[in-house]
Amino acid sequence: MSEMNEIGIAYDFLKNVILSEPLYKTVEFDARWYYSFASFSRMIDHDYCDHCSENSVFEWNYDLSFHDIFCKLAEYNKDSQNPIFRGITEPYRNQPVFIDYLFFCTGCKRIHYYTMMFKGNTVTKIGQYPSFASKEKVELKKYKNLKIVKKYYIELMRSVDAYSQHMGIAAFVYLRRIYEHIVETEYSKLSIEKNEKASFDEKMKAVDKEIHIIPDVLASQKSKIYSVLSKGIHEYDEDECYEMYPVIRNVILFILNRYLAQKDEKKLQEDARKLLASK
Ligand SMILES: [Zn+2]
Repeated sequence: MSEMNEIGIAYDFLKNVILSEPLYKTVEFDARWYYSFASFSRMIDHDYCDHCSENSVFEWNYDLSFHDIFCKLAEYNKDSQNPIFRGITEPYRNQPVFIDYLFFCTGCKRIHYYTMMFKGNTVTKIGQYPSFASKEKVELKKYKNLKIVKKYYIELMRSVDAYSQHMGIAAFVYLRRIYEHIVETEYSKLSIEKNEKASFDEKMKAVDKEIHIIPDVLASQKSKIYSVLSKGIHEYDEDECYEMYPVIRNVILFILNRYLAQKDEKKLQEDARKLLASK
């Protein structure tokens, strides 16, 4: 891998952990990336600013102290055969180091905070303001009035709370209920011959075949998604749920986006019809 490539991958990795991963999820990386982390000069985030009341650009800029800390971490966590070097670095190896990333809204200078804990070859986000849940909820607001999830909107919100607190099963089960409701609703609309005793798995596949509910980008993961979603509540384990949560969330948002687009199109057509009728 070229050096530029590796820096780019390290950049995307760190930015994703800071901005997108929930609290307390520990992620591993190659300890050599500390050198890359030391060299980042700027990170940009597009986020909702509650002071500007609109989506805004948030910016983090290079800080010399970060450079020094990361260079030290790179040295401390380097695998070395040299016993003298090891004698110096060993006491510092795997010691937690806490770093605050401050992103400023370019419109109003309001700050979004993220506190990261670096330890050996792992990083964990241990603090965030505004909270992960409140950010997510702003993004999900647009689905609030969709007929299909009206009854389950509160559960969509609860799934975000549960996920942000690292409660994988709870978060996943809320999503699974929403997904089940969508599949049952769509299945009842299908104009195919229906089997009274069809299992959830069969219904899901029938619906997917007709209206294509799993996005193309996830096509290669389809059988895994199917198998996870068709399990009974007691069969889930915490890690599996945690890992699958973002995937299922995206599948659900993909479906909801389509309903949203249909709703918008209907409104446009209706407006056009009214306009023509008034002429
Ligand atoms: Zn702002």
